[in-house]
Amino acid sequence: MKITPDRFRLAVQAAFTLFSLYAGYRFILFLSWVSGRSETFVAKPGAVEGFLPISALLGFRRLVSSGFWDRAHPAGLTIFLAALAMAFLFRKGFCGYVCPVGFLSGLLERAGRSFGMARIPPRRIDLPLHVFKYLGMGGFVFLIFSMDPRSLESFLRSPFNMTSDARMLDFFLHPSGMALAVLAALALLSVMVRNFWCRYLCPYGALLGLFAWFGPVRVHRDKDACVHCGKCSASCPSGIAVEQKEAVRTPECIGCGQCVGACPVDGCLGFHALGRRIPWPTVAVGAVLVLLVARVWAGYAGVWDNPLPPEMLKRVYQAGAGLM
Ligand code: SF4
Ligand code: SF4
Ligand code: SF4
Repeated sequence: MKITPDRFRLAVQAAFTLFSLYAGYRFILFLSWVSGRSETFVAKPGAVEGFLPISALLGFRRLVSSGFWDRAHPAGLTIFLAALAMAFLFRKGFCGYVCPVGFLSGLLERAGRSFGMARIPPRRIDLPLHVFKYLGMGGFVFLIFSMDPRSLESFLRSPFNMTSDARMLDFFLHPSGMALAVLAALALLSVMVRNFWCRYLCPYGALLGLFAWFGPVRVHRDKDACVHCGKCSASCPSGIAVEQKEAVRTPECIGCGQCVGACPVDGCLGFHALGRRIPWPTVAVGAVLVLLVARVWAGYAGVWDNPLPPEMLKRVYQAGAGLM
């Protein structure tokens, strides 16, 4: 079977999603030990902190203003910084290859396409809708960067922040009726509108998009070789009109390479960096490598696991997440 950008991406996304589920399972075992339901100690998996981008942004602010690494969610900060690096170097590689929400959103979009749905709204509706995710991102950045250092420190050390991953897990394991209704509405909208959540609402994706915008990698179209078949635009999960551009600079491009794989003309469409053509797997492999290197470095530097001894961490979770 030929390895295409689409198949390769699906495999990488599925692997990261399975790994996230495994981390979630280990976290449940950790919380069982915390609550006394199990006597077997299981270390808290740092990877679950990847689902706490707001905590990570708080930790980033602390790193910028004080030079100290956040000890409440150290792995979350590592993943956040790796995602920013991936975005800059490899076109929102976190969205394209790592994020499980992006994977689910992509599956819904594929389902929508197979039903002849998953459309992009007309430009006059599409463009204003993009504002929401940038407003959300701007609001979070403004609030967090305008906090005074003392409030920031006390929030980061609060049991509420330190156990936010437990509350996040509880939200997904025991969703309220309202949460289920919102999730169902988002799922339906993702079938009808291409990548609805990522396209219009995710503030994290908006931030990563800004970093990607300044990055060196672009999809480049050779306009002399192009036969204007439109397959690139039709295959793009972000709904970018690739056929009409010479270089794709938009923050919406996730570097998935699906347009490159769909182009029937050899050498017409490809990734370029600093004026040179690069093979399509460079983006996928590069993005994953950034994350793996960050993980190994964080372990080596002692900024992956929470530094509290297990018994002390247990008491923090018992108090903060009500797991007595
Ligand atoms: S836009 Fe948000 S939800 Fe979508 S893939 Fe990126 S980080 Fe994940
Ligand atoms: S322009 Fe190409 S690489 Fe970028 S998101 Fe669309 S299909 Fe993927
Ligand atoms: S798929 Fe290739 S040939 Fe067809 S419109 Fe896009 S760039 Fe041109």
